[in-house]
Amino acid sequence: MDDIQLVDLVGQYRAIQKEILSALEAVLDSGQFIRGPVVEAFEQELAAFLGCRFALGVGNGTDALQLAYMALGLQAGDEVIVPAFTFVATAEAAALLGIRPVFADIDPYTFTLDPASVEARITPKTRALVPVHLFGQAADLAPLLELAQRHHLRVIEDNAQAIGACYQNQKTGTFGDMGCLSFFPSKNLGAYGDGGAVVTHDPELHHRVFMLANHGARRKYYHECIGINSRLDALQAAILRVKLRHLEAYTRARQAAADRYDALLADCPGLTLPYRAPERTHVFHQYTIRIHPEVPGGRDGLQRYLQAQGIPTAVYYPVPLHQLPAFSSWGPYDSLPQAEKAAREVLSLPMHTELTAAQQMRIAEAIRTYLETALRTGQPPVA
Ligand SMILES: *Cc1c(COP(=O)(O)O)cnc(C)c1O
Repeated sequence: MDDIQLVDLVGQYRAIQKEILSALEAVLDSGQFIRGPVVEAFEQELAAFLGCRFALGVGNGTDALQLAYMALGLQAGDEVIVPAFTFVATAEAAALLGIRPVFADIDPYTFTLDPASVEARITPKTRALVPVHLFGQAADLAPLLELAQRHHLRVIEDNAQAIGACYQNQKTGTFGDMGCLSFFPSKNLGAYGDGGAVVTHDPELHHRVFMLANHGARRKYYHECIGINSRLDALQAAILRVKLRHLEAYTRARQAAADRYDALLADCPGLTLPYRAPERTHVFHQYTIRIHPEVPGGRDGLQRYLQAQGIPTAVYYPVPLHQLPAFSSWGPYDSLPQAEKAAREVLSLPMHTELTAAQQMRIAEAIRTYLETALRTGQPPVA
């Protein structure tokens, strides 16, 4: 009954069921399924929410990244600097175009790009920096933007996990040349299928992304370049319009849940709670803790123990990208100690808009029991 879930999409849907169904019905009655007024309305509302001039709906967040790389004219042989600790898509979309992903290390507190590691990896081939606002918190944009300016590099923000987050009171995704969003169902603004968006202040880049996402044609059948087919469909846009109206409340629910975890786990031995950097608002796409290496059984032991108690958790991400076979032909890569350490230590706890205080007390109690027992006895406890 009161099952704890990592994410609860059905519970969230139940609360807005009527709004969703009537929005879907209106699209079905309209017969307009690709682009059209609902997609355009969503794009305008999204741009207004973020505080940027343009938003273009695309097929998914991975395509958003690919289209951003293409729109900036990046080509085979160019290099982009991406964090080694992120979802694969950030680098995959570049590699698919023949662009070499150069992996940089992360800041151990925020898990986001370390500007010093980025600077050390800039070469004459570097064309762009790609900060990822991981787990719902902005990367340290000021020094990254300064580096980009000094070296004439473009900036693409991977904002798939941080819609609504702020850096110095400005929304993430609106600092660089382009921001890329994902509406994968479990993201903070999730569709009921795939979806994504590219946002920008620059009308020319907006037009280029539109063209590239529509077979290289600004006007149907007049193809100016080779593009792809990547569009947000009207049914998903209708769902996203409804959910965008609730996004601020959803974000507050996530932040309240994070505050409760912070309080419940404050004096727990052997772990580090999420760091909240000054002048950044964290929207808690994930609530990610670190288990210290001296805890017997370590992170994996705790995860197994919680699973046996009916508490699901996840490891985002178990392998840093520079160690994945998928990228081996782009190496050799330097070792990146902070990314490697994070991959060994992180654990993301259940986090969603329907999470209750009672469920969080159960979760925190189980974590505390494991850690206290393991550290006292030198053995991971059996569930
Ligand atoms: C989810 C995600 C993506 C890709 O989005 P999709 O919509 O699943 O293609 C890219 N980057 C990051 C950091 C993500 O979390």
